[in-house]
Amino acid sequence: MEIKTDICVIGAGPAGIAAAISASTENISTFEEGNRRREVLLVDSNAEIGKKLLMTGNGRCNFAHDGLEEDAYRGSFKDVADLFYERMGSDFVLDFMRNIGVFSRNIKGYYYPASNQAVSVVRALDYAVFKQGIKTLLNSKVIKAKKDEAGEFIITVLTSSNNKKNKKMVSEEAVIKAKRVIFACGGKAAANSGSDGSINSVILGLSEGIKFNKQLPALCGLILDEANSDLIKGARAFARVSLFGIKEDAEKELLSSDSGEIVFTENVISGERKCSVSGLPVMSVSRFASEALYNALKIEEGKAFYNELELEVDFAEDLSEKDILIHLLTHVGDKLSIALCGIVNDKIAELIELKGGIKGKINEENAVIAASLIKNMTFKVINTRGYEDSQVTTGGIDLSETDPDSFELKKIKGAYAAGELLDLDGKCGGYNITFALESGFIAGSAAEASLHDN
Ligand SMILES: Cc1cc2nc3c(=O)[nH]c(=O)nc-3n(C[C@H](O)[C@H](O)[C@H](O)COP(=O)(O)OP(=O)(O)OC[C@H]3O[C@@H](n4cnc5c(N)ncnc54)[C@H](O)[C@@H]3O)c2cc1C
Repeated sequence: MEIKTDICVIGAGPAGIAAAISASTENISTFEEGNRRREVLLVDSNAEIGKKLLMTGNGRCNFAHDGLEEDAYRGSFKDVADLFYERMGSDFVLDFMRNIGVFSRNIKGYYYPASNQAVSVVRALDYAVFKQGIKTLLNSKVIKAKKDEAGEFIITVLTSSNNKKNKKMVSEEAVIKAKRVIFACGGKAAANSGSDGSINSVILGLSEGIKFNKQLPALCGLILDEANSDLIKGARAFARVSLFGIKEDAEKELLSSDSGEIVFTENVISGERKCSVSGLPVMSVSRFASEALYNALKIEEGKAFYNELELEVDFAEDLSEKDILIHLLTHVGDKLSIALCGIVNDKIAELIELKGGIKGKINEENAVIAASLIKNMTFKVINTRGYEDSQVTTGGIDLSETDPDSFELKKIKGAYAAGELLDLDGKCGGYNITFALESGFIAGSAAEASLHDN
């Protein structure tokens, strides 16, 4: 089977859907009938479009943020994403959503659909795709791409379907011939949503020289070397977490820090019980843990980059160590758990007793140890919770490979890339979907505009 199209968009996440919508019509701002329409084909390995969107924001889809927080974007595309957020930002996303029929609700600076359901965003996108006359090819995984002599893309897909007779899944190869191609296949996070990194070799097959920065899990929990996981599992705390890289000479380098609610859990990993910690601030620092763990393998001048990774937890950010000590000293002779019950979770109080070797009642000596542990408890980080637990991917196509005004790949004329496939990861708060929609929209309209002369 051969399918011909003007523009082939690979990946039907927010980046690909926005790209297909903007590529399908000349006048993108009006979505009106009568504009010159492009033949656009939206391809995805899933049976439905927007599968990952359904999981976002705990099923509510946090698609934008009211304003750009410091350090909201990370990666080589960081500055471009910052610029887009300042120029287009939440206004672009709110207008885009409104255009497809979704009203927004601002909850403490986080934008969600008024319905409070991610599924309504996916339904509205699905309808916009239909209304724009965009063709879809689902259950179809792109496995190869090349350019012919005329400069058109020849894309090979494996389409799966159910054999009606024996009810078994069968795969059939098909070829798409396209004048332009937009890669919007995401990273490797939550691979069960379809983004499995399989497109990387397809892109490298078109141009070997494309610089892909190492893809690693981000916005995920961390695994700690902590023997007392049985004791602290389920403990929640409002805390500041600071991630440090420890060098061979014991010098500590602060990699990232954030505060908010954290939770300790126990997980069986490779048959062993391990202590994990998650929550928004942990997710926020996790991409730096991923990078540091990866860099730790690198040897520079005969030395490992970092010998160890450490997570320092301040369980009482609003109190100084001195204030805590003064409070504990009013409890000399009492049990530590009584003195700490108004400051930290009771499981954390027990951990402080264990770690501080505090047996019996409070005295002047162990009060100092307890106050210090509340403010600076350290855990060795042994790994991240990996792609299965992660919401985004660090790394991907380096900024230097694209023209940031169009997202065209400099080494593959006529090919564009958008969304999480690019080396960009945002903090929680809607930043990732915003960049996916914006970069997809820009790539789509640039691909459409580039056909004007043809
Ligand atoms: C649990 C969870 C919660 C999240 N919550 C939020 C949130 O509230 N707010 C926020 O901003 N971000 C959130 N994110 C992140 C956000 O969902 C992603 O950053 C965003 O979806 C990236 O969009 P994308 O279009 O670039 O890629 P994706 O959404 O990953 O879409 C890529 C698509 O490409 C398809 N594909 C991949 N390879 C191929 C191939 N070879 N052939 C054909 N198709 C292919 C995949 O099937 C997939 O549908 C969350 C992520 C997760 C996992």
